[in-house]
Order: sequence, then C-alpha cells, then structure tokens
Amino acid sequence: MTAPPDVEALGRSTWTLLHTIAANYPKSPNYKEQSDLKTFMGLFSRLYPCWVCAEDFQKYMEKEQIRVDSRNEFGTWLCEAHNAVNTKLGKPVFDCSKWEERWRTGWKDGRCD
Ligand SMILES: Cc1cc2nc3c(=O)[nH]c(=O)nc-3n(C[C@H](O)[C@H](O)[C@H](O)COP(=O)(O)OP(=O)(O)OC[C@H]3O[C@@H](n4cnc5c(N)ncnc54)[C@H](O)[C@@H]3O)c2cc1C
Repeated sequence: MTAPPDVEALGRSTWTLLHTIAANYPKSPNYKEQSDLKTFMGLFSRLYPCWVCAEDFQKYMEKEQIRVDSRNEFGTWLCEAHNAVNTKLGKPVFDCSKWEERWRTGWKDGRCD
C-alpha cells in the first residue's frame, strides 16, 4: 500500500515541479505569461499543504520579490528561494549558476545525479 507523502517526499516532488516549470518558462515571456507565473506562485505559496513551509515561503516572497522577466531570472530566483529553505534546514546550498544544468540541459560534465 502506498502511504501519503510526508514533508520530505512532498518537498522533493514539489521542487521538481517548480524547477521544471522554470526550465520550461520562455526566455522572453510575454505579459500574460509573466502574470500567470506570478499568480501561480502567489496561490502556490498559500495552498502548499505543509503549513509551516507555506508560511515561511510567503514571508520569503514578501521579502524577495519574485522575478519573472525571463527563464533565467525566474530559475535563479527559485534557486535562491530553494537555497533559503536549504539553509533553514541545515542542508548545503546549491550553486545557482548551475540551476539550468540540473533542471533543463543536464550536467555539462556528463554526470547523472
Ligand atoms: C516551498 C517549499 C518550502 C519548504 N519548506 C520546508 C520547511 O519549512 N521545513 C521542512 O522540513 N521542509 C520544507 N520543504 C521540503 C524541503 O525543502 C525538502 O524538499 C525536503 O527536506 C527533502 O529534501 P532533499 O534533501 O531530498 O532535497 P530537496 O531540497 O527536495 O531538493 C531536491 C533536489 O533539488 C536540487 N536542489 C537542491 N537545492 C537546489 C536549489 N537551490 N536550486 C535548484 N535545485 C536544487 C538537488 O538536486 C536536490 O536533490 C519545503 C519544500 C518546498 C517546495
């Protein structure tokens, strides 16, 4: 039987979704695409079903305004937001210059992790 996801499993799946949205976001988004992404992230931060996580993420979004001008702007903003959670949880921070290799193009050095 499959159990409901705990905070870790939910978190991993959710980061996969969010970074993959960034990876597929246009390089030059039009006004509607930018507005849709802002709306989505605003609603996401209120509906994310780990309430402590959601509360902190809303505070982060108030402090660090979302950047949706381009794929790289959003991907980097999201990487930094993920790093803020990593830091809070005592996990290593990720090198945000590499977010696109991790989530879109694959590693330049050919590794598979
Ligand atoms: C919005 C949000 C808020 C959360 N808040 C909390 C919280 O308050 N408390 C709590 O206990 N858990 C929280 N979580 C869950 C937590 O972030 C992790 O998902 C969970 O602990 C599992 O961690 P993990 O080590 O498997 O890797 P994850 O942090 O889930 O990362 C998955 C993969 O993403 C890659 N990665 C790591 N950092 C980055 C980065 N900065 N940019 C791009 N890619 C990266 C790595 O390859 C990693 O293996 C939150 C999750 C989300 C989506």
